[in-house]
Amino acid sequence: MLYQRYFEAAVSRLKDERRYRVFVHLERDVESFPLARWHRDDGSVQDVTVWCSNDYLGMGQHPEAISAMVETASRVGAGAGGTRNISGTSHAIVELERELADLHGKEAALVFTSGWISNLAAISTIADLLPNCLILSDASNHNSMIEGVKRSRAERKVFRHNDLAHLEELLIEAGDRPKLIVFESLYSMNGKIAPVKEIADLAERYGAMTYVDEVHAVGMYGPRGAGICERDGVMDRIDVIEGTLAKGFGATGGYVAGDALVIDAIRSYAGAFIFSTALPPPVAAAACASVRLLKRRSDLRAAHQRATHITKHALAAGGLPVLENGSHIVPVMVRDAELCKAASDLLLTRHHIYIQPINYPSVAKGSERLRVTPTPRHTQEHIAHLVEAMVGVWHTLGIPFVEPPSHLHVDEKSKEHCAYPEIKLAAQ
Ligand code: PLP
Repeated sequence: MLYQRYFEAAVSRLKDERRYRVFVHLERDVESFPLARWHRDDGSVQDVTVWCSNDYLGMGQHPEAISAMVETASRVGAGAGGTRNISGTSHAIVELERELADLHGKEAALVFTSGWISNLAAISTIADLLPNCLILSDASNHNSMIEGVKRSRAERKVFRHNDLAHLEELLIEAGDRPKLIVFESLYSMNGKIAPVKEIADLAERYGAMTYVDEVHAVGMYGPRGAGICERDGVMDRIDVIEGTLAKGFGATGGYVAGDALVIDAIRSYAGAFIFSTALPPPVAAAACASVRLLKRRSDLRAAHQRATHITKHALAAGGLPVLENGSHIVPVMVRDAELCKAASDLLLTRHHIYIQPINYPSVAKGSERLRVTPTPRHTQEHIAHLVEAMVGVWHTLGIPFVEPPSHLHVDEKSKEHCAYPEIKLAAQ
């Protein structure tokens, strides 16, 4: 092919920079989650423990979500049949949007085919509909938000990650023109939580509109699982809340929730919404079942937090460099692309543990990491196995250990990675 060398060169560049992505061929299993079957290149199959799924609560395997999906598919079919504008809106999506608006205490919600698309469509549309809008965007925002910002015709400025003083400086500089602050409530790669209340304070003081991505928080924080804004009591002070149905809710799809007028404007103007086939009704039904269930299942959220807490402490007690944060994400720092990939490979091949290496551009060069995501279905045995395996891999590859933080009170038993507080994991 005439142009082949360009594609070859592009792929080689990634390989040279040690950030060529290799997919692990997995088959998840409803019964044994977080175990999955790993299909090796040689055709053999091996059970592995998955420690990097964003199905944070295991809702993708939950019987209520599965039966809603199966029942809906057998009643109304597999697909949506077209875009909502030309083929009608399915009842399952209408119900889901009602459930999501109620979850976030907003007048309306609009469902998209993914969280990525909802950010692209909603941010660009809102900014384009506000005359002379200035977008103020957090430096660590997700790719989908950056694409939404870039796609709009509005001017944009980036504020330093979670830096309120910098944000205020930019708000003052902007004067009285329309301003849109876009940020995440929980940043997925470092697990840090945004000062949402303080951002809402600044937005009110300087007359800015607020748009928050709660993708890594919905289902998992707040009394009904609406996210960090609900947990922090500021849901009503944020204009637009964006979420995914693919992580805590275990299905797929994305959405925004807000005032009816804003949602109607996005529905009416966003090309990425108007011209794309709607979410299939069985998927909408599964997501809806999951949202409903998680509104009342605080015990699952508590079990998730407990599993996270124990995993973090056990890893840190083993001298592994866990990045401190207040969330359910457990980044273990390697700080080298090659070593990070090698650690991931060894965990998989030697210990049958799957944790995908996180390299540039998902994180800055030199801050490569293994991103561990415990679920309520990870048991003490899984955790003990993880710590033992990671300590072994760190020794084999010569990755530096750190001193366990003094507040952990590491005793001899926990040094052997076997003394974890009793946890009772909630049955689903
Ligand atoms: N926003 C953030 C912060 C994300 O991390 C992701 C995906 O990981 C998305 C949006 C996209 O969501 P989805 O996977 O539903 O497309």
